[in-house]
Amino acid sequence: CGIVGYVGSGNATNFLIDGLRRLEYRGYDSAGIAVYENGKINIEKKQGRLVNLENELKKHPLQGHIGIGHTRWATHGKPSDRNAHPHGDCHNHFVVVHNGIIENYLTLKKDLMEKGHVFKSETDTEVVAHLLEELDDGNFLSTVRKMLSIIEGSYSLVIMDSSYPDTIICTKKNNPLIIGLGKGENFIASDIPAVINHTRDIYILDDEEVAVVKADQVSILDRDGKPVKKEIQKVTWSA
Ligand code: GLU
Repeated sequence: CGIVGYVGSGNATNFLIDGLRRLEYRGYDSAGIAVYENGKINIEKKQGRLVNLENELKKHPLQGHIGIGHTRWATHGKPSDRNAHPHGDCHNHFVVVHNGIIENYLTLKKDLMEKGHVFKSETDTEVVAHLLEELDDGNFLSTVRKMLSIIEGSYSLVIMDSSYPDTIICTKKNNPLIIGLGKGENFIASDIPAVINHTRDIYILDDEEVAVVKADQVSILDRDGKPVKKEIQKVTWSA
């Protein structure tokens, strides 16, 4: 229900938890984050309030400069630690957070299970991670674009690839997603209050646009892969 992402030189976990707290008003049943550290993407997630996740992070801190986070409002699969986002494929090569519903997930899941993928949750979202692993051609962006041509439904999706430790790719359809532009760092969120303490320069993604977000660069493509020249929106109100 709430989505955040961070890439920069700061501590990703700090922004992710703070951002999720600022989205708390949307309501949720579980929360989680994924951070890239020491060559892999590590996930911590917990049913219940954000404080449960924070207590978990005190025991197992996640420290890195790139990460994604989520507060979930369950649609497919009961509220539980396992069904909480982020979701990874079999090797956490691709890790995703998602708002919305993947309408054709059952067909995709059956197909992926036949190909040997082992699912850890009952969510519709997890198929996205496994589908990315299945389609992986070594190029993060082209793999994401292939995945998007297959899934149906509504989504804000924020994705990490452990082979691309400096890049987050995000996209949306019938669900909101914004990018906050910082200096040497960039922020992703499902709503502006999550980023407003860090920047007032915002890109508002349109449906089916795909953004490739790095610490010092954001490029946006339309659904056909053509570069989009986006206007920066200035937020003038305070949270
Ligand atoms: N459909 C997904 C799930 O049930 C995402 C729910 C949400 O938007 O938080 O896990």
